[in-house]
Amino acid sequence: MTDVADRATAGFRREFGAPPAGQWAAPGRVNLIGEHTDYNDGFVLPFALPLRTVAAADRQEGARWTVWSELSGETIDFGADEVDEPGRVAGWGAYVAGVVWALREAGHDVPGARLAITSDVPLGAGLSSSAALEAAVLTALVDLGGLDLPAERQPRLAQRAENHYVGAPTGIMDQSASIRCRDGHALFLDCRSEGVEHIPFDLRGAGLAMLVVDSHAPHRHADGEYAARRKSCEAGAERLGVPALRDVTVDQLDTALARLDDPETRRRVRHVVTEDQRVLDTVALLRAGRVREIGPLLTASHVSMRDDFEITVPEIDTAVEAALAAGALGARMTGGGFGGCVLALVEADAADPVADAVTAAYAEQGFRAPDHLTVLPSPGAVRLT
Ligand code: ADP
Ligand code: MG
Repeated sequence: MTDVADRATAGFRREFGAPPAGQWAAPGRVNLIGEHTDYNDGFVLPFALPLRTVAAADRQEGARWTVWSELSGETIDFGADEVDEPGRVAGWGAYVAGVVWALREAGHDVPGARLAITSDVPLGAGLSSSAALEAAVLTALVDLGGLDLPAERQPRLAQRAENHYVGAPTGIMDQSASIRCRDGHALFLDCRSEGVEHIPFDLRGAGLAMLVVDSHAPHRHADGEYAARRKSCEAGAERLGVPALRDVTVDQLDTALARLDDPETRRRVRHVVTEDQRVLDTVALLRAGRVREIGPLLTASHVSMRDDFEITVPEIDTAVEAALAAGALGARMTGGGFGGCVLALVEADAADPVADAVTAAYAEQGFRAPDHLTVLPSPGAVRLT
């Protein structure tokens, strides 16, 4: 298969009979650590993947947007009327129309455009193909129209597109990661202030690699379980008299837990409070260049998600256990849970044996074979040409 950017330009030429004015790329992401902390006003630490979505694009006359995606094979076309009424453009086009809508809503004079979209971010695997699509389209439109929208304000806008136009209740992490991540860094995001810091994450320099395993676990009841976890966290915060669980520190945890009589709420609160601390501890280690030492924090995060937050599934636990048994320095589920991907921190030359061990463990359990890839922290959204 040719490069994702070449395919976007070739697609543009074929669909629109002319070369594009430029190419914009935006990556998928994984969250290194900090799960279900976002809606508790806490901390997350994603990094961008080398897998990207590319928009080859040019302006066109009037307020019209014509979009081809290689993944669906179709070309869709919509005007301002459809954009201005969330819901009118459905399916994958909603992510594109949503970006145009959010820009217009914020008062920007969005140029009409033709776009050809290609991607090597797998869809629905928890690697955030949706934010990659939004970010690729957003950066293309901002540049084509010369819009006054600095990078720090773009994630909020892309999030609005997904929340209000697509109708998916996501936090700010995915869009922040896709737009703002830097090569060789993780993005430390404070979900309360929306402040970000770029934390050096030099896997290669430390002789390490990150293995991403797509568990292929079917997302069982994920939406309902997500809502239930949010509710538990809100109930816990209310009972403890704090605006959000972010406001409970690890030092205060025992006292706080003693005030909660429901054992389930206690477990949920313990996960969130300890997970916030694990993010802070990971950031401190990375800042000190002690990359290899984050392994135990990743594994502790997994145990907390498995036992306290109860959001893992057999496929995921099997992958984590097999990776650790095969010598991974740390491993955890990444993403909201009930499926998705597992991260394993490994010695650079151990990525293949660890992946093989996970595949063998899956076969033994009779699970559908997992996919895997090895990644390094990669750049956020950029204009390529
Ligand atoms: P994730 O973000 O974890 O991959 P989501 O369900 O949030 O999963 O988003 C996946 C959806 O995003 C797809 O079903 C599709 O509608 C849309 N999408 C993402 N990338 C593309 C693409 N390159 N072309 C068309 N649609 C895409
Ligand atoms: Mg998504």
